[in-house]
Amino acid sequence: MQYEEVLAKTWDVAIIGGGPGGLGAALYASRADLSTLVIEKQFTGGLIALTHEVENYPAVDLTTGIELAQSMEQQVRKFGAEILFKDVQRLDKTGPGPADGFLLTLGDGKQVRALTAVVATGSAPRRIPAKGEQEFYGRGVSYCATCDGAFFRGKRIAVVGGGESAFQEGQFLTQFGSQVTLIHRREGFRATELAMRRARARSNWAEKLNYVVDEIYGGKVVEGLKLRHTKTGAVEDFSVEGVFGFIGYDPASAFCRHLVATDEAGYVLADSRMRLSVPGVWAAGDIIQGALKQMVISAGNGATAAIDIREYLAEMRG
Ligand code: NAP
Repeated sequence: MQYEEVLAKTWDVAIIGGGPGGLGAALYASRADLSTLVIEKQFTGGLIALTHEVENYPAVDLTTGIELAQSMEQQVRKFGAEILFKDVQRLDKTGPGPADGFLLTLGDGKQVRALTAVVATGSAPRRIPAKGEQEFYGRGVSYCATCDGAFFRGKRIAVVGGGESAFQEGQFLTQFGSQVTLIHRREGFRATELAMRRARARSNWAEKLNYVVDEIYGGKVVEGLKLRHTKTGAVEDFSVEGVFGFIGYDPASAFCRHLVATDEAGYVLADSRMRLSVPGVWAAGDIIQGALKQMVISAGNGATAAIDIREYLAEMRG
């Protein structure tokens, strides 16, 4: 569909975000014959597209995140959902009545109209709070092992964090790096036993506990880190060529915080049908407060939202 046609229409459902939550909603909405627009700023699949291996989605034994993202996209297109690759900057209500719907303002200033909206923008990787992080981002500092791991073949890699992502993505990096060292700020972990066991089984895996990264330094590319011991305060140099950050995620809700209720961090507050505080707006996936951040749950949230939207629109239309 041409861009002008997308802008000329009033969509039944506009879904902001093309990850598992958004595409789950799009699947159920388009199969229910609702005119469905997904607006995605980068690529479909969300964080899944950046994940090297997926083995915990029912009926899918083992696949790559990219393959799964592609097949989710193909599936929703098959049922007539439209995907627009644009950045949504604001979500506003058009008027006071339920039939007034919503206006979505895009990065280029153009506006999309829709009767209902689904917020499925997920969260973005938290950047390592160290001096030099910005300077060396893309020159040794990365937040995506799948995208950048192969650049570090035979090199020393640091992985920052102590959660599931740090262990799973760190383990993936052991196939490239001569040594992969997990740097974590304490001795306890948030990761599952399985993820930790698999990573620790690799001969080139190491861990430095009770350390934070104070500085990332180098010349053209990263050459080392200044690590600070969290108990003694002692600072030491640690020589690495790659630094991968997996220290959690921040919600991408800036475009709708003025409209719907969120918690202090910016996660939206959804009820059991995924409805947000403003009638006509739903949510799906990691953007929801308390979300377990699992693909199967995000997709389920999307289905729940779309089914409720179908009922809402049917009632509105009489
Ligand atoms: P996470 O569980 O929030 O863990 C973040 C880690 O980074 C924690 O160990 C935290 O330390 C550390 N950290 C946070 N801020 C830091 C800072 N400023 N400096 C140094 N370290 C910092 O994030 P995640 O591992 O990305 O996981 C997010 C969610 O996705 C979880 O619910 C997880 O289960 C899920 N997930 C699931 C899968 C899967 O099922 N296949 C894969 C990946 C992730 P502290 O522990 O000290 O706070």
